[in-house]
Amino acid sequence: AYGDLLNQARELKAPSLEEVVQLLSPPTPADHRALQGAADALRQETLGDVVDIRGAVEFGNRCRKNCHYCGLRKENHRLSRYRMDNEAILAAVGDVYALGIRTVILQSGEELPEATESLVELIKSIKKQFGLRITLSLGERSFEDYRAFRRAGANNYLLRIETTDPEVFERVHPDDDLQERKQHLLWLREAGFLLGTGGIVGLPGQKVASIAQDILYWRDLGANMIGVGPFLPAEHTPLENHPPGDLDLTLRAVAVTRLLCGRAFIPATTSLATLHPDGQRYALEWGANSIMLINTPETYRANYHLYQKKAKVDLDFACRSIKEAGRQLPNYIQGVTC
Ligand code: SAM
Ligand code: SF4
Repeated sequence: AYGDLLNQARELKAPSLEEVVQLLSPPTPADHRALQGAADALRQETLGDVVDIRGAVEFGNRCRKNCHYCGLRKENHRLSRYRMDNEAILAAVGDVYALGIRTVILQSGEELPEATESLVELIKSIKKQFGLRITLSLGERSFEDYRAFRRAGANNYLLRIETTDPEVFERVHPDDDLQERKQHLLWLREAGFLLGTGGIVGLPGQKVASIAQDILYWRDLGANMIGVGPFLPAEHTPLENHPPGDLDLTLRAVAVTRLLCGRAFIPATTSLATLHPDGQRYALEWGANSIMLINTPETYRANYHLYQKKAKVDLDFACRSIKEAGRQLPNYIQGVTC
């Protein structure tokens, strides 16, 4: 019966919650392997073997919010805070450009509204100097800000829904509201961005049905990029003693996302690479087609402390996963062969 559902999964016009729960719960080890095979085959057919590589610059760790899972939360007073200025960010973006990478991801904690002007200048400078595609991951801002960032030339915006389960969402987000979060994603689309979203597997109180609901949410949204990673505990946060998300469940969530969201870009997340030494390769084998390198300058890296023992995902690290998964580095990456 699981095999039948798997065969139909790609064609399901409007999968029910029950069907997605079943897809996420293969009853036997052979069914578990069949799920992996089906997701991998669909990835191969629709997107091929080349793994897309992007570069992230985590330019600041100051945050006005207190998400319970995140090491950057405002009330974590043990963290030493930094904010790179635009000149330093441009230098780091230059390093991404020199690798041949075409998309840079600018990520930070949620800054104050006053940051808008300098962010607009930054986006314009990156476009002028490097012509790179720009993905922003800055958290929730006003619709006017989204429009200003888009007009300045940013292309994609990554805002994870984190979880669509109202109770779980509320429990871990003292500053946020699930309906507002959804509204932000609609504003981002209205402002003209390609949408990135995704979620965390293993939040307290989360059930398999919550994850199934998440997958249906990003399918209905038509997200272009979907990042799914395990929860990892961070010191000095309310969830520091909560166990990490389950590896197999996270991989199954990646695979079902691939099956139901077709051509979406699915990154092999840094959190999967951190959870297990082979996590990045596994994700590539379970439907992922993209890797985000971390190009934050060495001096700041340790302070972008989302969770413990964050993996150092550089080009060598990515090459190893790509090679072991039998995949290919894109030809735009310069001077390196895996
Ligand atoms: N502040 C922005 C935001 O919240 O969208 C961007 C930076 S935030 C650190 C990026 C992502 O990190 C979040 O969307 C969240 O899913 C993830 N994250 C934070 N803490 C985590 C943890 N302890 N385990 C797994 N993922 C985590
Ligand atoms: Fe701030 Fe983003 Fe971390 Fe929440 S997830 S505390 S908004 S950096």
